Amino acid sequence: MELHGKNIIGGRLCAGGTRSFAAVNPETNERLEPVFTEATETEVGRALELAAAAFVEYRRKTPEERAAFLDAIGAEIMALGDELIKRANAETALPHARLMAERTRTIGQFGLFAKLIREGSWVDARIERAQPGRKPAPKPDLRRMLAPIGPVAVFGASNFPLAYSVAGGDTAAALAAGNPVVVKAHPGHPGTSELTMRALQAAAQGRALPAGVVSMVHGATNAVGMALVKHPCTKAVGFTGSLQGGRALWEAAAARPEPIPVYAEMGSTNPVFVLPGALAARAAEIAEGLVQSVTMGVGQFCTCPGLVFGVRGAAFDAFVGHVARLAAQVPPGTMLHSRLCARYREGVEEFEKLPGVKTAGRASGAEHQKTQAGAVIFVTDAETFLKTPRLHEELFGPATVIVGCASTGELATVAGRLPGQLTASIHATLEDLQECRPLAEVLTQRAGRVVYNGFPTGVEVCAAMHHGGPYPATIFPHFTSVGTAGILRFVRPVCYQNCPPELLPLELQDRNAGHIWRLVDGELTKADVES
Ligand code: NAP
Repeated sequence: MELHGKNIIGGRLCAGGTRSFAAVNPETNERLEPVFTEATETEVGRALELAAAAFVEYRRKTPEERAAFLDAIGAEIMALGDELIKRANAETALPHARLMAERTRTIGQFGLFAKLIREGSWVDARIERAQPGRKPAPKPDLRRMLAPIGPVAVFGASNFPLAYSVAGGDTAAALAAGNPVVVKAHPGHPGTSELTMRALQAAAQGRALPAGVVSMVHGATNAVGMALVKHPCTKAVGFTGSLQGGRALWEAAAARPEPIPVYAEMGSTNPVFVLPGALAARAAEIAEGLVQSVTMGVGQFCTCPGLVFGVRGAAFDAFVGHVARLAAQVPPGTMLHSRLCARYREGVEEFEKLPGVKTAGRASGAEHQKTQAGAVIFVTDAETFLKTPRLHEELFGPATVIVGCASTGELATVAGRLPGQLTASIHATLEDLQECRPLAEVLTQRAGRVVYNGFPTGVEVCAAMHHGGPYPATIFPHFTSVGTAGILRFVRPVCYQNCPPELLPLELQDRNAGHIWRLVDGELTKADVES
């Protein structure tokens, strides 16, 4: 399949702009064909107007029709075969095995959302029957459920070219809820994005859905993303990327005449706390797991553990030494693009110069390659950590800072001073946890997911996952960008008061045709409502 490099807007190819860019193979630094044309503001507007027009029809599709569309997307992505994997590998340097696993995850996400909407209870239907004779005032008939919000702008993430990009979790969640999607392809993998969007388009055409249900625009400058967020037809934004990018988009969305939510997932330092009992019992195992987690995918995960805290002493020193030796043995890896690698190297240099911070170990061999990065382990003490704000920020790549604290009490104090996190991990024995109860309590306030005796990388996609956390990890900590609960970002509740029965959505009618769970007069039931 030859790539055309154009924007795909309502099923049509558009390339009216004058700005263009090309993907670069991070392994070889070669420019990859073809040239991609950045969307103009008019083209972005056209994509959103078509999405708004498609919304009228798409939101009325039955859950089964939407679920069949999601299944068809999965099948079309699979039908792209090796070509998708090869292009994604050329654009990102992510290994084939990782990309195949990511494709499985991508298709699996569509399958999970299809299952969710076929079952149907996610709409959270609540029915309170009227009580005309209630004194002193009659009670009206009230029926409430979740309804789609409107066109959603999705920003593809650089580090997941399949599972969090054009056909990622944000797109799957938005489409499942009944919203059209306009994707801003990540400029790091435009060819992968084009192939994926062609699969989405094929699925939409195959099911005779309105043309604007899925569109994609290219851009390598902020202008395209800003135009998407500012357009009046956009009703919500899904974003994964940098704190600066997420904040800029959120501020632009808040400044609109009609502000809209920006569900931005912006990363985290994912602190790991190693308590003394766990260190005494299995220091080598924890060190190995930590180095594996930090260097996995060249550290390019929003769940990469960038901070480790322990209690100073001989066991702690031995642990630091072991981690440093293991990290130094990990061969450097190729990062997603040269800018990301340059930023990582600058960050490492900056950390090296921070007073009170020492380099305990580093992998060599990456110095002469523009996109290669090696692991670096820094060590410092709690006092330095607390007075050095830079150490509290994410350093995107295979680096971690190990912080020695004076006591378990100080571990809890430091935890309380951390900014919001996607995850926090505790390595502890039961005795450790009993002794250090405040730490676990503090971490549940600072992080969206607390991991016990494990590491945060490898996020399970399922109903119980929460991938979110207090700012700056995300803007809205009560929502997740991974798992089926992510659908809640792209809906809003609507309450129907004394609505004529024939105008009610199926889910709120007396007869429970979909056999879904509903809260009827305070009781959770699948029964029909008796009038
Ligand atoms: P990014 O720079 O935030 O870019 C992500 C997307 O947002 C791109 O499509 C970009 O488009 C757009 N964008 C960024 N800033 C914008 C602005 N001010 N106005 C309009 N659009 C904007 O993220 P990245 O390229 O993936 O990687 C850079 C950094 O993000 C990394 O160093 C890392 O810190 C962080 N990151 C975090 C995660 C995570 O999981 N949270 C994942 C990957 C990266 P343009 O480039 O066209 O402007």
